[in-house]
Amino acid sequence: MGSTPRATNLTPEELEELRARAAREAGPFVNPAIVGTARAHNPEWAAEILGRPVGARRSTWPELYLIHLAVLAEPTPPPPPKETAARAAREAQEEKRRRAAAEEHARQVEAWRELEAALLKAGARVEVRHNYTSHRHLETYTQGGDHVVLLEPFHFGRLHREAGVSLCCTPSNAHNVEILEPIPDGRLPSCQACLRIARSVARRVS
Ligand SMILES: [Zn+2]
Repeated sequence: MGSTPRATNLTPEELEELRARAAREAGPFVNPAIVGTARAHNPEWAAEILGRPVGARRSTWPELYLIHLAVLAEPTPPPPPKETAARAAREAQEEKRRRAAAEEHARQVEAWRELEAALLKAGARVEVRHNYTSHRHLETYTQGGDHVVLLEPFHFGRLHREAGVSLCCTPSNAHNVEILEPIPDGRLPSCQACLRIARSVARRVS
């Protein structure tokens, strides 16, 4: 414990032996068969075998021969520690992000359920519908949004909406939310104007 994980299980003594053997046996002539097949398991492993950072320059013939000997001596090295740690960190980060997104979604679902219940209490049966068309962008209207649509006429204080229109529908933006398509269950409203009105109704019935 406490020691830095290595990319090879070959001991320093074994590595010294391999290096000495490579220096003795490689000779001045390149063996094309070995050059063609000698492949380091991975860069971290190669750096430990060669005793230098890889990637800075091409390996020399004696170095390739050393790699060839080391692959024979260690056909299955441990996983490269830096790459493995980096991948684990990336995966942990991704998992954290996924969990946060799931929790945020659950919070939004819960908030919408409460809002829906408050609207029902105020006499409004609603569902979320999507608006695919838009003529222009208005401050009070979210383009292509998911709106809170009344299933029956709703009259609450000064708020009057017919069945089939969105909470955000007013004479000035009615043409923007003319076409509202039912969407599969579970979609949450995204229209901020609809949500603002729904919250104000909820506040008054609570
Ligand atoms: Zn809306």
